[in-house]
Amino acid sequence: MANSKFEYVKHFEQPDNLLPNTWVVVRIDGRGFTKFATKYAFEKPNDKRALDLMNAAARAVLADCQDITIAYGISDEYSFVFHKSTALFERRASKLVSTVVSTFTAYYIYLWSTYFPDTPLTTPLPSFDGRAVCYPSVQNLRDYMSWRQVDCHINNLYNTTFWALIQLGGTRAADKNEILFSRFSINYNNEPEMYKKGSVVFRDYELVEPGTHNVAQEIEGIVEPVQQSKTQTEKDKKRRSKARIVVEHLDIVGDDFWDRRPWLLS
Ligand code: ATP
Ligand code: ATP
Ligand code: MG
Ligand code: MG
Ligand code: MG
Ligand code: MG
Ligand code: MG
Repeated sequence: MANSKFEYVKHFEQPDNLLPNTWVVVRIDGRGFTKFATKYAFEKPNDKRALDLMNAAARAVLADCQDITIAYGISDEYSFVFHKSTALFERRASKLVSTVVSTFTAYYIYLWSTYFPDTPLTTPLPSFDGRAVCYPSVQNLRDYMSWRQVDCHINNLYNTTFWALIQLGGTRAADKNEILFSRFSINYNNEPEMYKKGSVVFRDYELVEPGTHNVAQEIEGIVEPVQQSKTQTEKDKKRRSKARIVVEHLDIVGDDFWDRRPWLLS
């Protein structure tokens, strides 16, 4: 395009490239979902349909973007982790955030009727905000993921107790014992894993048996640095693109999840 006298306005754009070689987390969160949950009569404290819909939209985002290695969701929020090597949009924050937010929102609305077949969406339509944060080390990233999962646990414990109390409040004394027993003292361990642990979305490969991989890796590291051939890298890329994207409800605070899936953080 030929230069015009108007082109100088381009220089008003500020660079917002994120720090290289850091894990980029884009976290999105539903706007005004307390009200939204009331409007669509979400079951309290956990509406399974709403969580399944969040998970389906997150899965679509991962399918759309190979550079996202893992995502974690609770309530009305989702965190998407871009691999530290990503060069997508030259790592420009506004591009990354806006693409994740709009892709997620588009799928959330597109898939709504699958999860809420009897409740059509009406305006105001759901929307999400988003931000990007860089984490320089795997430990920082692991701590971020742990922070979100611990939050899930604390909130769920609080909410489960809160809603049991609400139910308890509106009952006669004679029923209280019965409810205390059947609801309140529900063994918290028997609550669905999705409510207690949130949802982890990632590409599924063969699991590494505990112990075996680390030893092999250490030996490789000592003997010689593994230089992957280009064809091997291409093969890995192809394999990655074909892998099934799964939604699981697992502990991500401990080491086991990560040790058994070394491709996520390497
Ligand atoms: P903001 O726009 O600032 O994010 P918000 O109302 O969305 O405001 P959050 O802190 O994000 O506030 O809280 C999310 C709200 O949505 C909570 O009230 C939560 O109970 C509700 N919510 C989200 N998902 C579900 C669900 N699956 N079942 C029941 N309630 C849900
Ligand atoms: P990027 O993802 O980098 O934005 P892009 O393909 O969207 O890539 P743009 O520079 O945004 O590139 O250009 C938008 C493209 O969409 C142009 O090719 C433009 O001709 C086409 N396009 C957009 N709106 C219309 C329209 N209403 N009618 C015909 N073509 C359109
Ligand atoms: Mg918010
Ligand atoms: Mg919200
Ligand atoms: Mg929230
Ligand atoms: Mg354009
Ligand atoms: Mg465009």
